[in-house]
Amino acid sequence: MSAIAISALTKTFSKDKNSESALKNIDLQIVQGDMVALIGPSGSGKSTLMRHLSGLTLADKHTPGIVKVLGKPIQKRGRLDKDIRQTRAQIGHIFQQFNLVNRLSVLTNVLIGGLSRTPSYRGLLGWFTEEEKLAALDSLERVGLREFALKRASDLSGGQQQRVAIARALMQKAEVILADEPIASLDPESSRQVMETLKRINKSDGITVVVTLHQVDYAQQYCQRAVALRQGEIFFDQRVDALKTEQINQLYGTRPPQQK
Ligand code: ADP
Ligand code: MG
Repeated sequence: MSAIAISALTKTFSKDKNSESALKNIDLQIVQGDMVALIGPSGSGKSTLMRHLSGLTLADKHTPGIVKVLGKPIQKRGRLDKDIRQTRAQIGHIFQQFNLVNRLSVLTNVLIGGLSRTPSYRGLLGWFTEEEKLAALDSLERVGLREFALKRASDLSGGQQQRVAIARALMQKAEVILADEPIASLDPESSRQVMETLKRINKSDGITVVVTLHQVDYAQQYCQRAVALRQGEIFFDQRVDALKTEQINQLYGTRPPQQK
């Protein structure tokens, strides 16, 4: 089964018919267990595509196309039903700014991840079972941060906070992880650790990872496949080991050709 299947997705923000679409007729399939980099210059549509995958942006009549995650449509014409909620619970999110609750402990931040999968009033009030706490500690262990469990989230470095966000997705038992620019605000060493952590959970748990990256070299180092967007279109889609410098230069280096 495809983890992600997009067909004929177009997104136009403005209702003005002559305005440029942020996504133009995108077709994309990602198999389960793959680790795919979404690359391309700023403004090429990466985040817009990610928001459609997560269901954060809902389809409307200006947004034709079908987006399926784990075999189920993630969007239904602006409605949010039980099926979509269930599918969303299987998707973990990693953002550039980590999005942890700063004043809470690292452990609680991870425990919150479990609530996306199995919501409970008990959990919303901050009461968790021993079993849940052990599972959260285990998730932290897997990102190498078990000993930080009782620290405040804001006391950790950026790279560590990002790994806590990964532990939160593990606690959620996410089957697909969508990471939008997860290393954009990190130094090279932290970036490496975050990418390695994503790679590790991709390999050991078969979690499908889609990661947008500014730098092609990280895509080449950690991903199997690179999908490049340029001006809302798929510019190339191929195995990273077959990427040519010329293609990368075309993507980032030269000005895009003028429309005829
Ligand atoms: P990337 O993540 O690759 O930098 P984005 O997906 O953020 O690109 O943006 C793609 C295009 O869509 C850009 O031209 C951007 O200006 C436009 N865009 C993104 N979000 C909105 C929005 N909420 N309203 C209007 N235009 C938007
Ligand atoms: Mg973006």
